[in-house]
Amino acid sequence: MPAPSQYDVIIIGGGPAGLTAGLYTGRAKLKTAIIEGSAIGGRMAEAWEIENYPGIVEPINGYDLTQKMHEQTIKFGVEHIQTGVTGIDLADGHKIVKTALGDYAARALIIAGGSERRKLGVPGEKELAGRGVSFCATCDGPFFRNKIVAVIGGGNGALNEAIHLTHFAEKIYIIHRRDKLRATPVLQEKAKADNKIEFLWNTDVTAIEGDGTVERLKLKNVLNGKETILPVGGVFVAVGLIPNTDYLKGVVELNKVGAVITNENMETNIPGVYAAGDVRANSVRQVVTAAGDGATAASNAQDYLSGIKV
Ligand code: NAP
Repeated sequence: MPAPSQYDVIIIGGGPAGLTAGLYTGRAKLKTAIIEGSAIGGRMAEAWEIENYPGIVEPINGYDLTQKMHEQTIKFGVEHIQTGVTGIDLADGHKIVKTALGDYAARALIIAGGSERRKLGVPGEKELAGRGVSFCATCDGPFFRNKIVAVIGGGNGALNEAIHLTHFAEKIYIIHRRDKLRATPVLQEKAKADNKIEFLWNTDVTAIEGDGTVERLKLKNVLNGKETILPVGGVFVAVGLIPNTDYLKGVVELNKVGAVITNENMETNIPGVYAAGDVRANSVRQVVTAAGDGATAASNAQDYLSGIKV
């Protein structure tokens, strides 16, 4: 078997955390590769509008911000490898990243693999995925032109999805299991002011139904147990995010929800292995904090590689 390609730093994940880390290590002239399993940009690339990234006064599309960050890493010599990471081998002090394309070795690792969307786990969600069940309004919104749709959840994700859908859908129900939203006040105000959006409070979705495509939701009022049917042509599930860390179990320390535990230097329990962004325990899950985590992890990886004690 050929020896694995050797890098100073390998970054797993090409979202804002990974791209920023790459910008810093590339600029520090460390031989850097970013390994990205799917499209570059992660959750950021799916955002219709980002209006809270400092210095970007007019809202920017997440895809456009991704392209700029990507271009900046290329400018500083970062290599991009598109393949899924299947495991990490840290035996005997080595740092080997295992992928479908083969093994890659690094002197320092930055884990920035982001998060995936939590599923509701109700009948019909899996069966009708891609047939009216969606997890991304930016990706799928145009398919729901003039339709009545529902968004499930009460966080920033759900409200962003609903507001974006007002460009396409005729009506949007936001179905939330409580009567208080988790979303930031600015999004709450926007959603409540939009006459295409109606809130259904204290309501659980118990099934998604339809003959081949989504036609209706089965709902249950959590206060009085009353069951109803809501006819819809689509449903967007936005009930939170879970860290992408299945391949890290038993490799680095994770918390009870599977997020990577780090110290304030973004270092995991293994020296020279860092984590940044959504994958990290206590992440605020903002583009700007992911970028900050990435810069912190990269700066500390740089010190680690040059033997500087922090
Ligand atoms: P979130 O803030 O964790 O909100 C998840 C929402 O889904 C909550 O309202 C929660 O209800 C509800 N929920 C969870 N499990 C449910 C279930 N089984 N059935 C029904 N409802 C359920 O998740 P998010 O909105 O995806 O945001 C994740 C993080 O990304 C947050 O830190 C957020 O600030 C950040 N973020 C996201 C976006 C975005 O567009 N996705 C944008 C900016 C920032 P309860 O409130 O009752 O728990």
